[in-house]
Amino acid sequence: MSVIYERVALIGLGLIASSMAHAMKAQGLAGEVVGYAKSAESRAAALEIGFCDRVEDTAAKAVVGADLVVLAVPVGAMGAIAEEIGPHLAPGATVTDVGSVKQAVIAAVAPHMPEGVHFIAGHPIAGTEHSGPRSGFATLFQNRWWLLTPEGADAGAVARLRALCEGFGAKVDEMDAAHHDLVLAVTSHTPHLIAYTMVGVADDLSRVTDSEVINYSAAGFRDFTRIAASDPTMWRDVFLTNKEATLDILGRFTEELFALQRAIRLGDGEHLHAYFTRTRAIRRGIIEAGQDTAAPDFGRVAAAAPKGG
Ligand code: NAP
Repeated sequence: MSVIYERVALIGLGLIASSMAHAMKAQGLAGEVVGYAKSAESRAAALEIGFCDRVEDTAAKAVVGADLVVLAVPVGAMGAIAEEIGPHLAPGATVTDVGSVKQAVIAAVAPHMPEGVHFIAGHPIAGTEHSGPRSGFATLFQNRWWLLTPEGADAGAVARLRALCEGFGAKVDEMDAAHHDLVLAVTSHTPHLIAYTMVGVADDLSRVTDSEVINYSAAGFRDFTRIAASDPTMWRDVFLTNKEATLDILGRFTEELFALQRAIRLGDGEHLHAYFTRTRAIRRGIIEAGQDTAAPDFGRVAAAAPKGG
């Protein structure tokens, strides 16, 4: 493939940024990849692994002369980074982010973007429970969705960013930020909270020993533990910034849970069967859409299996 951006600056060098860099190198999509992360250790790792051509010790230095800047830090850190880099951005540059929440990121970043810079917020629906510069791989985004929330950004700049995401093998869709946050609260944020809770409950249950939990965890619980191993900083920020949509979905979840609880108490098998029949159809839809496999590995093999963030 041909070069889409001459110089890409990656701010944050964790799972998502390092996967983007690996994919850019593998597909020849960027002339030069410059990196910045908070710790010297992560910056050194990026050079050692070779997914960055150069690293800088401040975000401001890293963005100089870049025609694409990617903010790949936890959502709560985006505003301060945007404020720091704003005065150093090249005219005509595109700034995007990969944060899991869109309205809060746009509110924090957009005010710091100078005239003539294209800010196009985005979110790859791909991830694993691993984090840091050593966790990335070039195929992370293949056949995954990459959502853009351009909110009136320049059409040419959006098309160029879209081409990059497609170069990673992703499928691109555009939507408005509020809708994105609601959709993700349903498909990712609330499920993560439920997984965190279920693993916490098992941990609290002193009548069940740790070894029993580990040895006898069949499909359901094993998948919960994988999700609940996700980065605590990233997920703290997701819930603090996608508060309204998550609380809305959690409220609905609690109502449904009470209805199921009542059906169990009353022995209402018909209600339970009808409910599970409906949810089974949703699972089939996900497999048909190519977003998961029907293979029954139950989380045993795919320790780093892709999941959405
Ligand atoms: P990660 O692996 O934990 O990496 C985060 C990176 O950000 C690290 O390089 C870290 O630096 C850097 N960083 C953290 N705080 C910083 C600060 N205040 N200033 C500068 N750099 C800072 O995270 P990730 O999984 O790649 O996630 C990055 C973003 O992608 C998040 O906004 C997340 O919501 C989003 N996202 C994640 C997933 C997923 O499943 N993981 C999926 C889609 C989107 P050090 O290395 O020095 O600590």
